[in-house]
Amino acid sequence: MHVLIVGGGVVGLACAHALTDRGASVTVCEAGSLGGGSTGRAAGGIRTQFSTRVNVELSLSSIPVWESFADEFGVDIDYRRPGYLFLARTDSTADAFERNVAMQNDAGVPSRFLDPDEALEYVPELRADQFVAATYSSVDGIADPHSAVQGLAAAVREAGGDVRANTPVTDIERTDDGWRVETPHETFETDAVVCAAGAWSKRVAALADIDLPIAPRRRQIAVVEPEGDLPDDAPLTIDLDTGSYFRPEREGTAIVGGHFSESDPDVDPDGFDKSMDLEWALEATERADDCAAYFGPETKIRNGWAGLYAVTPDHHAIVDDVASGFVVAAGFSGHGFQHAPATGEAVADLCLDEDVCDVDISPLSLDRFESGETLSEENVA
Ligand SMILES: Cc1cc2nc3c(=O)[nH]c(=O)nc-3n(C[C@H](O)[C@H](O)[C@H](O)COP(=O)(O)OP(=O)(O)OC[C@H]3O[C@@H](n4cnc5c(N)ncnc54)[C@H](O)[C@@H]3O)c2cc1C
Repeated sequence: MHVLIVGGGVVGLACAHALTDRGASVTVCEAGSLGGGSTGRAAGGIRTQFSTRVNVELSLSSIPVWESFADEFGVDIDYRRPGYLFLARTDSTADAFERNVAMQNDAGVPSRFLDPDEALEYVPELRADQFVAATYSSVDGIADPHSAVQGLAAAVREAGGDVRANTPVTDIERTDDGWRVETPHETFETDAVVCAAGAWSKRVAALADIDLPIAPRRRQIAVVEPEGDLPDDAPLTIDLDTGSYFRPEREGTAIVGGHFSESDPDVDPDGFDKSMDLEWALEATERADDCAAYFGPETKIRNGWAGLYAVTPDHHAIVDDVASGFVVAAGFSGHGFQHAPATGEAVADLCLDEDVCDVDISPLSLDRFESGETLSEENVA
C-alpha cells in the first residue's frame, strides 16, 4: 500500500507517521519547507475545552502523544500544562459553559465551572467584575509546533518514509486502480492520496475536481512585554465573548491574539500579508487589558506575525475518504496542531481500512455540509 500525502505541516506528517508505523509506504510532498505553512505560525495551544464531543475526543486521544513526545521521538517540544481559562461576559455564554463542562466531564476531562472570583486563583489580576463565569481545565497546555514537525519528520524518514520539501503537487488524476499525482520533477502512481494541505486544501482538492468548503482566513499574534507581572504559569486565558486571548511566553513576554474584524474575506494563501498590523496589535493589547490588568499603557509590543486558519462553515475539520482513496484531513479551523496525532491515526484507518483510532470521526465527514448535519463549535477564538 502506497499513500501520497500532500502537505508537510503537522497534520500531513502525523498522517505519514501513523501510516509508516503500520507498515504502509509513504511519500510526503510539501510545496515549501516542512512546517512552513500554518503550523509554523500557530500559538501551540493544546486543550480539551471544546464544545463538541468529537473535538474533545480528538484532544483526549492526541494528548498522550504530546505527553510522551520527547521519549518517543527524541525531541523536546516544550510541552507544558498551565491550563486554559475560558471567561464569559454574558449569561448565555455562561449557560453554554455549563453545558460544555458537563459534556467534557462525561468524556473524562477534569474541567470545572467557576465563578469569576474562583478564576482569580489562576489569573490574579483578572478584572473579575467584567465576567459572570469561567471554566478551567488543568490538562490543557501548550507545546512548540516547530519541534513537533522536526520530530515527526525524522521519525517518518527513519521508518522509510519519503519526505520531500520544495515539491509542489501540480495535478491529481484518478486512474483505474488508484491515483496519479504530478509534481514538477516526478509523477507518482499511488493507491491513496491524503489532502493535508491546510489552507491550500481547496486548491489541492480542485486538482482532482473535488470541491471542499475550506477557506483561508488570516489570523494574527503579537508578542508583547506586559506592563504587569504575568505569572509564568498563568493559563492561556480566552475572553470568549470578545475573542481576545493571552498567555505567558518566554522571559517575561506574553502572546496576545484574537480576531476582531467584522468582515472576514478569503485571502490568497500564497500572497497574504504575513506581518502583524500595528493597529490590530494595539487593539489586541487593549482587549487583553480589559480582561486582566497586566496589559496597561506601558505594555510594549515587541513583534508578531500573521498566519492562516483553514476554516470550514462549522469550524470543524473534514477527516474523510471523499472519493475512493482521496482522503481529506484539513479545515481544522484554528485547532489542527493539537489534533494532529489523533487525525493521523484516523487517516491511517481510512487509508488501510483499519479500526485503530479511538475517536469516532464520522461527524467530520464531507457530506455533513450537504445533509445539513453540521456541528457547532462555540469555543473558538
Ligand atoms: C495565528 C495562529 C494561531 C494558531 N494557534 C493554534 C493553537 O494554539 N493550537 C492549534 O491546535 N492550532 C493553532 N492554529 C492552527 C494550526 O496552525 C493549524 O490548524 C495547523 O497547523 C494545520 O496543520 P496542517 O498541517 O493542516 O497545515 P499547514 O501547516 O498549513 O500545512 C499544509 C502544507 O501544505 C503545503 N501545500 C499547499 N499546497 C501544496 C501543494 N500543491 N503541494 C504540496 N504541498 C502543498 C503548504 O505549503 C503547507 O506547508 C493556529 C493558526 C494560526 C494562523
